[in-house]
Amino acid sequence: MTHPDASNQADSNDAPIGLYVHIPFCETKCPYCDFNTYAGIETLIPTYVDALCEEISRWGDLLGERDVATVFFGGGTPSYLGATDIGRVMAALSGAFAVAPDAEVTLEANPGDMTAEKASGWLDAGFNRVSMGVQSFDDDLLETLGRRHDSEGAKRSFELLREAGFENRSLDLMFGLPDQSLEQWTDSMEQALALEPDHVSLYGLQLEAGTPLEADVRLGRIERPDDDVAADMYLAAEERFGKAGFRHYEISNWAKPGMESRHNLVYWRNGPYLGVGPGAHSSLFGHRYSNVRSPRWYMRSLGSEPNEAGKLAVFAGSPPRRDELPDSVPTLLRSMADGGPVDFAEETTPQLELAETMMMGLRLDVGVSSSGFEARFGRSLRDVFAPEIDELRSEGLLEEDAAGVRLSARGRLLGNEVFSRFVAAAEGRPS
Ligand code: SF4
Repeated sequence: MTHPDASNQADSNDAPIGLYVHIPFCETKCPYCDFNTYAGIETLIPTYVDALCEEISRWGDLLGERDVATVFFGGGTPSYLGATDIGRVMAALSGAFAVAPDAEVTLEANPGDMTAEKASGWLDAGFNRVSMGVQSFDDDLLETLGRRHDSEGAKRSFELLREAGFENRSLDLMFGLPDQSLEQWTDSMEQALALEPDHVSLYGLQLEAGTPLEADVRLGRIERPDDDVAADMYLAAEERFGKAGFRHYEISNWAKPGMESRHNLVYWRNGPYLGVGPGAHSSLFGHRYSNVRSPRWYMRSLGSEPNEAGKLAVFAGSPPRRDELPDSVPTLLRSMADGGPVDFAEETTPQLELAETMMMGLRLDVGVSSSGFEARFGRSLRDVFAPEIDELRSEGLLEEDAAGVRLSARGRLLGNEVFSRFVAAAEGRPS
């Protein structure tokens, strides 16, 4: 297991990459969710898998079977796919990339999808880590969140993973929910700990514009969650999971020693990654780029015509905006835009790389290391950011020593404030 430090990794053409596979299907759409995912279109899954395998194969040809250190199936609900479709995607990946024998291969799972047969099928297919979206062990709150499992079902599903042989199990919980009390949150944490997960992700609810839950809160049908209570829940989690032997290695993530998410560490270290599927983002070739968001246009751009269900308005979206790509886009990437799914790209300018390295690295408990920063940018952290470091230290939001800079305990509660100062500063720095 790689230890998470802050030696952020720039892309080089042969560095192993993290590979994200987007599955845009859910059995039901949760009222707080604004991800690029859809319910009620299961008939499209085989066509979608055709397109996904085609995209994977094209990237394999273009990147020359590049080394892959981590694979993450996210969405959406990857566990909603049947064994045949999962097997097709896994076969396409191993045919196109050099997936390391010790690669971390994660599947996001919904407790409502779990069966013993599915769990052992995932192991056989090559997954060695499952991240389960439990969200709460309180049945009333699960109903508010529109989840299709109850707390007992979630516990049983998580146990099934262990019984199948998974040795790396993560679960997600949410806090700061409407009408959620500190007692309910404490109880959910205790129930999670009783299941002995190796890793937990704890997310504060974000009310995203355009979601039904945001509308309910805005219109007064559901009480707005209290920010102070949410902050207390976060502090309670730091204390409880710390006591239970978890390391709070990233703002929203806790892990038992050696069980940090290697895939997400690629993002936090600002390393190279490839995303496949509609709306998936990538960072390669000195560019940040993404695929067309509409599943319909994604499938079409890869030669798979959606059936009638896919032609419904919800799927209409927009075709790839190929004429808007900047001139800096290299030929290899352009070939995935001309007649492929890529429809947005921006050059990773030194300013953007500086901003992202700080923003992502500071999410980690170890922060941004002095030596890693200097190796990447040829200048010291203080050469570039001395005024911001001094200001944030004086406000008690940042700590600094010879090893580098990191968020203070108070800074973790106000992370966005800290990140925005570095982002604004990076934009004004000469390259
Ligand atoms: S299961 Fe996950 S991805 Fe699907 S709608 Fe709910 S929150 Fe969104």
